[in-house]
Parts: sequence; C-alpha cells; structure tokens
Amino acid sequence: MDYQPEIIYIEEGAADYAMTRRVLDHFPGVPTRQSPDLQEVMDDIRQSSVDVFGAAKRRLLLSRFKGSFLKKCPGISPGMVCCNYYVVNLITNCVYDCSYCFLQDFLQNNPLLTAFVNLDDLLAELDETLSAHPNRTFRVGTGELTDSLALDDFLPYSETLIPFFNQRSNAVLELKTKSDRIGNLLSLDPSNIIVSWSINPPEIAEREEKGTPGTLKRLNAARQCAEKGYRIGFHFDPVILFPGWEAAYADLVDTLLENVRPESIEWISIGGFRYRPNLKKVIKDRHQGTRLFTQEHLPSEDGKFRYLRPLRNRAFATLRRMVKDRAPDVNVYLCMETKEIWQGVTGKMPRSDKKLDQFFDL
Ligand code: SF4
Repeated sequence: MDYQPEIIYIEEGAADYAMTRRVLDHFPGVPTRQSPDLQEVMDDIRQSSVDVFGAAKRRLLLSRFKGSFLKKCPGISPGMVCCNYYVVNLITNCVYDCSYCFLQDFLQNNPLLTAFVNLDDLLAELDETLSAHPNRTFRVGTGELTDSLALDDFLPYSETLIPFFNQRSNAVLELKTKSDRIGNLLSLDPSNIIVSWSINPPEIAEREEKGTPGTLKRLNAARQCAEKGYRIGFHFDPVILFPGWEAAYADLVDTLLENVRPESIEWISIGGFRYRPNLKKVIKDRHQGTRLFTQEHLPSEDGKFRYLRPLRNRAFATLRRMVKDRAPDVNVYLCMETKEIWQGVTGKMPRSDKKLDQFFDL
C-alpha cells in the first residue's frame, strides 16, 4: 500500500528540518498548511467524517517533539512481567488499520498521523543517556505507537538511527514492523539492529490487518534482512484464536522457518489478544467483519481483557512447542503476560532461565 496524505500540516518551528524537506520533496502535489490550529483541524475532521480515526490517519502533521523522547516501556503494569525495554516515539498513529490496534482508543484525542522531525534533539538525548550509563545495555524500540518501517520511504528515520546505534557499545535498536519497506535497511550496516516482524496466519492478516503486506511478503522481507546480516525477531502478537487456529499457526511456523533460518532468529515472542474495555466498542464500530470477539474474554489484574487463563495457557504452550519442536534453540518468550501464565507455559519464571535472563538483562 502506498500512502499519500490528503494534506500535510507543518507545525510552528518544524519547517526548517531536513526531515520536513524530505517529506515535502516526496509529496510535491500534496497541499500543505503552515502553523495550523490543531483544534480547528480536529473539529473539521469530526464534523466531516463518520470515521474520525480513519480520516485522521490520512492527514500528516510534521511536528517538533518537545519532551523527553526516551521512555521506559509501559509494559510494566500490575501483575505483568516486564522485559526491560525503552521506547522512542518518532511517529504517532499508523498508516495501517488493524482491527485490534490499541491506538484507536489510546490516540482518540490526538489521532492525526504525526511525525516528529527534530532528530537532532533525539540524538543528543540518546547520546547523553547512553553515555551516562556505560555499563547498562539499552534495548530501544520505535514501534510502540506506530509501525517502525511502514513510512521509511519518505520518513527515513532508519538512515539516522541505524548508524547512530551501530556506534554504541551499550545499545540495541529494535525496528518492529508489519511492512516490507526494507529498501533503506539493505544498504546499511546491520550490526546493532534487530528487525522484528509481527506476524499472524494469512487468514488473520487478511481479515484483521487492513492495508498491511501479507504474511508471505513480510517473511520475504525478513529473509532479505537476515541475509543482509540483521538479527531477526518475530512477534506472534496478537495471537487470535478461531476455529482451526492450531493448524493455521502450525503452517505459519513452518513457513516462517522455511524463509528464515533459526540461526538468524534472535527470539519469537507470543502475546495474546488483549484490550482495554473502551477499545471493544471502537473495534465493533470501525471493523464490522472482525472475528476478534468470537471467544469469551475476562479482565486481568491490569484491567485488560484477555482469553480465559486455561485457554491462554494451552494456546501459548502449543505455539511454543510448535516452535521448539522445529527449532529447539530459538528463544521463545511471552509478551505482556502474567507470572502465572509464564509459569504455566514455560514451567518457570523468566529470571530462572539463563537464556531469558540474558535476554531480559539486555
Ligand atoms: S501495524 Fe501496529 S500500529 Fe499499525 S495499525 Fe496495526 S497494530 Fe496499529
């Protein structure tokens, strides 16, 4: 899918950045508006669109980020096991439109597709933090509030971030994506970089992940990155249970391992479908063909709804076994899950496993 915004807004102070010029050069025919009143912009969208969130994705705002870029991953919530991760948000919202996407609720007040162009501030902050803690290793991801690579053709953050991280001995960058936009990556040094793909069986990708490249295209992109020397990760996330899920996920694991050799795979993470209560109505309104709610969900300790615990236990243990039977050395971990589920699926807590300890200590 080639994204083309309907309009580009350039916020006060964002015009003189190289990234802004790159975007404007890429879209010479797209109308622009300088220093917009964002309240007016949102009022206009709310008055003219039934699907406000979808309409806001089609308008691109170039902005300067004024706070601190580096944040501890918000996975730390009551009862959940945390994997010691930092996030940097360079873009908020996403050109894809997955039915289960939490951004539909999380960004309700500010859903414009927004890209921050002051990369010099980001690099200065990263340099200061990484230099202040030389004995700590930072895992940093850019894919919390967007897809890390979907816009890399015209917002080529990778061209700046990858060389920066390659010069650091105490940091690893993770680019998390569903895209196949790897053109820039194939001409860069892969040393300190993990590229990870969220994948699901084709029947889920087609129904629930609108606008994304299909599963095979993602795996083909992963193969090319592995051949270039990037370390590769996969997220089976969100795992969605539907009639026939076991066979579909078994096929997915087979296809994945046919495309990417286990030696190139740093880890595979597993995370079940989960949602905050407010998201359910948004999903039902915006994605009428969804199959997300064909099973029962109950709230966990962190307030998010999940499949019932025995079902999660069985599904995650089955998936883990599918991977381990075919590729015993690939590290499999659970994302955003409770201690009880870790214990039930892996038989141990992460800190009692040497390999996972290394992973969590990264
Ligand atoms: S790719 Fe990720 S950020 Fe983009 S719509 Fe899908 S779930 Fe949301």
